[in-house]
Amino acid sequence: MRREVAILGATGAVGQRFVQLLEGHPWFEVSVLAASERSAGKKYRAASNWKLETEMPKEIGEMAVVNTDLKSVKEAGNVDLIFSALPGDLAGPIEEEFAAEYPLISKASAHRLEEDVPLLIPEVNPEHLSLIPIQRRKRGWKGFISTDPNCSTIQLAITLKPLMAFGLRKIVVSTMQAVSGAGYPGVASLDIADNVIPYISGEEEKVENESKKILGVFDGSRVKTADIALSASCHRVNVRDGHLESVFVELESEPSVEEVKDAFRRFTGEPQALKLPSAPESPIIVREEIDRPQPIYDRDAGRGMSVVVGRVRKDPIMTLKYLCLGHNTIRGASGAGILSAEFMTTKGIL
Ligand code: NAP
Repeated sequence: MRREVAILGATGAVGQRFVQLLEGHPWFEVSVLAASERSAGKKYRAASNWKLETEMPKEIGEMAVVNTDLKSVKEAGNVDLIFSALPGDLAGPIEEEFAAEYPLISKASAHRLEEDVPLLIPEVNPEHLSLIPIQRRKRGWKGFISTDPNCSTIQLAITLKPLMAFGLRKIVVSTMQAVSGAGYPGVASLDIADNVIPYISGEEEKVENESKKILGVFDGSRVKTADIALSASCHRVNVRDGHLESVFVELESEPSVEEVKDAFRRFTGEPQALKLPSAPESPIIVREEIDRPQPIYDRDAGRGMSVVVGRVRKDPIMTLKYLCLGHNTIRGASGAGILSAEFMTTKGIL
């Protein structure tokens, strides 16, 4: 059965990716586009400053954007599922209003760390979806909120999961994050051209706290956060798309570099077994070249859904180090949201 979806924040960087990735999707069809009062009443073509490399889907361009409130969205069309790409500081109460009636998958940070809300990467912690019935009971909602992690956290957590078999203890990560991660218009060109900005508000806390929840264990009633130590330093670099991260890990055991690369390559999850439409064949691709991964060559690997790892090597202080790279608006945002929705569909949650 095809499901009709509303996108909140449809005109932004993440909203546009949703529109792009949902074009021709076998299970989901966009029925409602919502954004701020500035956009409401305009055709999507006029309201969104389309910044993607492919053409805006014609029929979407002709759809009217509506205000982001329950009444306007309900009147605009049938909705089975909502993707929220709202700014984090606004998302909290708006998403709750919608979730009382509809299943809602959020890209925003507002609810990620709440105890009864899944912070889902289907390959990494599918069992965390068991929080949904608990949330519904507790909040008395017909719908629910499920969240996807921050764009730098998702790719990091995907690479940390296979390392847990070696006894993951400590992680130090330094990120080099693309400008599209700040949305549109995002960082002013005069601030980022010829420059690196060594601070992204709230980002380091997100990477540190979210990773521990994602890698935590669901004990039947709540998620017990993973017993790991993680320190992040986050930086904005002059790259359009694709976050690159330099990762140092301390493990309990001393696997060889080849064993670690093998664990990365062999890592798959339920989305691969189920052959979900957005699941990449390999969640992690290991490159052997000494100078990869690089954003322009590697961000589109697996249609932007694979994380590319390279330069896996021993470290004289920690156990080993490597680089990882992921497409921040695809695996880090809209592609992740769609994969979560596909996964929930096969699990009978949607
Ligand atoms: P963005 O480009 O700034 O887009 C923001 C969207 O929210 C626009 O559609 C905007 O509509 C809408 N909006 C703004 N104020 C609103 C209001 N008062 N009421 C209703 N809608 C409002 O931001 P983005 O990069 O797409 O990010 C969206 C969310 O995804 C954020 O929470 C962000 O943290 C998260 N995220 C972003 C990335 C990334 O790589 N960019 C990755 C993961 C998660 P108008 O056009 O009408 O102003």
